Amino acid sequence: MSSSTTLANLPVRIVLVGTSHPGNIGAVARAMKTMHVSTLRLVTPKLFPHAEATAMASGADDLLAQATVCATLEEAVADCGLILGASARLRSLRLPQMEPREAAGSALVEAHKHPVAFVFGRERTGLTNEELSLCHTLVHIPANPEYSSLNLAMSVQVMCYELLMSSRGPTDVTVVEEASEYATAEEMNYFYTHLQQVMIDTGFLDPAAPKHLMKRLRRLFGRARPDKQELNILRGILSAVNEYGDKHGNKQ
Ligand code: SAH
Repeated sequence: MSSSTTLANLPVRIVLVGTSHPGNIGAVARAMKTMHVSTLRLVTPKLFPHAEATAMASGADDLLAQATVCATLEEAVADCGLILGASARLRSLRLPQMEPREAAGSALVEAHKHPVAFVFGRERTGLTNEELSLCHTLVHIPANPEYSSLNLAMSVQVMCYELLMSSRGPTDVTVVEEASEYATAEEMNYFYTHLQQVMIDTGFLDPAAPKHLMKRLRRLFGRARPDKQELNILRGILSAVNEYGDKHGNKQ
């Protein structure tokens, strides 16, 4: 595989969460198009579509026309097997952290197996911890520690530039072939719903006092990143528990 597998043909999504200024959305479209990245997803943008977005896109308005608007981040990344969250601050969350170059390299390898998302936060407040917990890895653009917050579109530009640079080099075919096909966010969600139901049915989880159990389990399985086959095993175990309960009439 070589540069003929262009970035434009790979399923790489840019996801903007809660953008306030429509001009930034347009500038992001321009940043993406210059680098051959074309899929834009917008989670609850304040104003979109908007004349300022079109003006700042400056000829990249085809990307704006094709952009999908989603109600939640979960919906925006449902089909993705790798979700990377861009953060201006290094957080104390227990998430692996990468710089854009390394993130671009992994993203391109994985994009041969399943869609990949780069998630960017709000201009003022970035991404919430809950949104970051949907991400597998944090990406931080090295910057002046006293002043580390880039403009939204500029951070998208840096990330897309690294993706383009990475896609120009030869891709190691064996690395791509051996890469796992990870479960998508949507498949993980079905698993969490199933797991929660089994825990309620078996009396392990009291729905009246759930505490933080599901959040902790999501964090655990998010860290483990099961591939599709492993997730099938886990779902199979849950189904076996269901069947055992049915057979032995444990349900009221
Ligand atoms: N004040 C906010 C910064 C928001 S900037 C905060 O502290 O989180 C808007 C978005 O641009 C961020 O959510 C992030 O996705 C991206 N961004 C800005 N600077 C970045 C950096 N140095 N590294 C990675 N992403 C960055």
